[in-house]
Amino acid sequence: MRVLAIGCHPDDLEFECYGTLAKHVKNGDDVIVCTIANGSMGDMTIPPRELAQIRYREAANAAKVIGAQEYIGIDVDDLALNPHDDAQIRRLTEAIRYAKPDYIICHGIDGYLDYHADHNAAAEMTFTASFNATIPHYETKSPVHPIITPLYYLEPTSRQFRMITDYVDITDTLELKIEAIKCHESQFRWLGEHTGSNSLTDDVRARARVHGKSCRCQYAEAFQRCTQAYRMTASRLLP
Ligand SMILES: [Zn+2]
Repeated sequence: MRVLAIGCHPDDLEFECYGTLAKHVKNGDDVIVCTIANGSMGDMTIPPRELAQIRYREAANAAKVIGAQEYIGIDVDDLALNPHDDAQIRRLTEAIRYAKPDYIICHGIDGYLDYHADHNAAAEMTFTASFNATIPHYETKSPVHPIITPLYYLEPTSRQFRMITDYVDITDTLELKIEAIKCHESQFRWLGEHTGSNSLTDDVRARARVHGKSCRCQYAEAFQRCTQAYRMTASRLLP
């Protein structure tokens, strides 16, 4: 199986689904990680271009920690994501065609808003690009993707899922997930101050424990399945 995870900023996927991605790798599946925004605004003092380079390296290292096949940065500046910008959509469409995914994990558009406008834009962009990837006259370098790819939505940062449809037991991969999160050194101070958290990794463990209790395992991640026409499958795709 080939799995593509499309996050907004470098580190979003690590917090919401890296236990699941690590589990896919352990099962022998191919995992490709992609981020749309470059993280250029995620600090108070480091200049945006320099910060984008730091964050690219951090995200690439995190992808290596779980054994992902490849990390792709679409490199749109933070706060500049635009679902109606054809150049941005085309770059994302090309990444999807290149990755040839059986399904995509991404931010969700289905009935809720995330706290961060970039996350909502990333959700709409992924929905559009994964459809465009199947349209022969919408040209990019790689060949047309044969399926309107099924989507599984990440838990929103606001934690206000309309509905959790699927859990993944990440008991065996929680420590890898934490190790991957720790690759994002540039973000610890910023995120702590911006969100009021004393320990981001403690928060991750606590949330995984809450989800684990809901599905009778030790630690879990939660997802919402996209139920739009042609996005559904008869079998489960999550590990
Ligand atoms: Zn983010």
